[in-house]
Amino acid sequence: MRDPAFVVDAMLGKLVKWLRILGCDVLSVSELGDSDEDLLRAARAGRTLITSDQSLFQRAWREGIRARYIAGADVIDALALLSKTEPIPLRIDTSKTRCPECNTELIELPVEKAHGVPKEVLRKHLWIYLCKSCKKTYWLGSHYLKMLRVLIQAKKRRSTGVNNLNS
Ligand SMILES: [Zn+2]
Repeated sequence: MRDPAFVVDAMLGKLVKWLRILGCDVLSVSELGDSDEDLLRAARAGRTLITSDQSLFQRAWREGIRARYIAGADVIDALALLSKTEPIPLRIDTSKTRCPECNTELIELPVEKAHGVPKEVLRKHLWIYLCKSCKKTYWLGSHYLKMLRVLIQAKKRRSTGVNNLNS
C-alpha cells in the first residue's frame, strides 16, 4: 500500500517532521514554493492538504480538494485529530520512517558502517538510520523516548476527543 501522502503549509513545520517520522510521505514549503497555488497543485496531484489557514482550507474544499484544517500549532492535538480521519499510525515503525528534514526513506545501517557518528552512539547502538538523500544520520536516543510519550498523549487525546478539526 502507498504511504499516506500529505502536503502541509508553512505554519505547521513541526507537524511535517512528525508525520515523516511516522512514515507519511509529506511535502512542505521547503520542497514546494510557499504560495497557496503551489500547495494546491501538490494536493490536486493526490495529496491531502493540511493547513492552518482558514481561507486556503475553504478554497481547497470549494475546488473539491481533500483538505484538513488544523487550528493550532500543538502537535499532540494535531496528531490526535488527524489520526481520526487519516491513515496516520500513532507509533514509530523505523522500517517506514522518513527523513524528518527531506522526506526520503531511511535505510538501516549497522553502526560500524556509519560515518561521523559520535563514539557514544557507536558504543550504545547496533543500528543507525541513514537518509539516502541528505545523508543525515539518526538513532534511537533519549529523544526517541520523548517521542513515544508524545504519541501516548496523542492516543489518549484521540480517545477522549478534541474538536478543532473541521472536515
Ligand atoms: Zn534527508
